[in-house]
Amino acid sequence: MDNWDLIIIGGGPAGLTAGMYAARARLKTLLLEGGAIGGQATTTDWIENYPGFPEGVSGFELMYSFQQQAERFGLEIRYEEVQGLGLAGGVKTVSTPEGSYQAKAIVIASGARHRRLGVPGEAEFHGRGVSYCATCDGAFFLDSTVAVVGGGDAAVEEAVFLTRYASQVYLVHRRDKLRATSILQERALGNPKITPCWNSTVDEIKGENRVAALVLNDVKTRDKRELKVDGVFVYVGIDPNTAFLGDEIRRSQEGYVWVDETLQTSVPGVFAAGDVRDKDLRQVATAVGDGALVVFSVERYLTNLE
Ligand code: NAP
Repeated sequence: MDNWDLIIIGGGPAGLTAGMYAARARLKTLLLEGGAIGGQATTTDWIENYPGFPEGVSGFELMYSFQQQAERFGLEIRYEEVQGLGLAGGVKTVSTPEGSYQAKAIVIASGARHRRLGVPGEAEFHGRGVSYCATCDGAFFLDSTVAVVGGGDAAVEEAVFLTRYASQVYLVHRRDKLRATSILQERALGNPKITPCWNSTVDEIKGENRVAALVLNDVKTRDKRELKVDGVFVYVGIDPNTAFLGDEIRRSQEGYVWVDETLQTSVPGVFAAGDVRDKDLRQVATAVGDGALVVFSVERYLTNLE
C-alpha cells in the first residue's frame, strides 16, 4: 500500500491549488481525479472574473496552467475515482478501483456537479438535445433554437454564450426575476437573441429521436404550453460530489461538507476545500483561496502529529 503525507481528492481549482502548495512545501502529495482534470471550470468557455487576465481566459487553458504549475513542483496526479475512505485511527485509507492508499491527512476537493431537472424525457434525450455543458455542445446548435433552464449565474452566462451559435435562445426561469449577478443579467436581457420565459417550469422534454419541444408550466396560471426547441441546456444549480463519504463527515442540509475556520471537517486530519464545502460563494477565486489555506492547516496538523 502506497503511503503519503497528503492525499487530495479532486483536481479542480481547489485541488490543484492545494496540490501546488503542498508539493512546494515538500509534502509527499498525491492528487486523485476520477474524471478530467480542472473540474467544472474546464467546461466554462470564458472566465472573466479571475484576476490576472484582463481580457478573460478560457476555463480549459486556465486549468491546464494550474496543472502544469502544480506538476512543476512535483505533485503526483493519478486518474482514479475514489470510492471510499477509512478514517478510523491516525492513518487514513483512500480506496479506488485500482487499490488503496494511506495518508496522514486528506483534503476533499471533489467539487460539485450540475443538478438534474428530474422530468420525463431528460434522461432519455441526454446527449440527443439535452445537455449540461454549453461549452461542450453549443456548436452543435448552429442556427437552431435552444432553451436554457435556470436563473443563476451559470444559466444566464451560458445563455449568452449560446447566442454565438443558436439563432434563438429561450431562458426558462421559474420566477420573474433572475438570481444571476447584475452584469450577466444586463448582457442576457439586452441580447436580441435571448427571450426570457418567466414564471415557467419544465414539465416534460418531448421528441422522437431527439429533443423537439418542452412542455412549459406557467406557475402562476397553471397553463401548459409547448415550446419548440432543438436543444435544452439545464443549469438549475449544483450538488456536491460526496457519494464516497461516510456519515462521520458532517454535512449541511444541502449535503455540503461542514468545515471549521481552518477548513478541517468533523474528522481530525480530514479537510475540505472548494465547491464541495459549505460556503456562500463558489468561484475559481474562492476555490484558489481555499486551496492555499487548506495546505497551511494541513501543515499545522502534521506538525502537531510529530
Ligand atoms: P444557482 O446559483 O444555485 O442557481 C440555480 C438556478 O436554478 C436558480 O435560478 C434557481 O431558481 C433555479 N432552479 C433550481 N432548481 C430548479 C428547478 N428544479 N427547476 C427550475 N429552476 C430551478 O446555481 P448555478 O447558476 O449553477 O451556480 C452555481 C454556483 O456557481 C453559484 O455559486 C454561482 O455564483 C457560481 N457561478 C459563478 C459564475 C460567475 O461568477 N461568472 C458562473 C457560473 C456559476 P431560483 O432563482 O428561483 O432559486
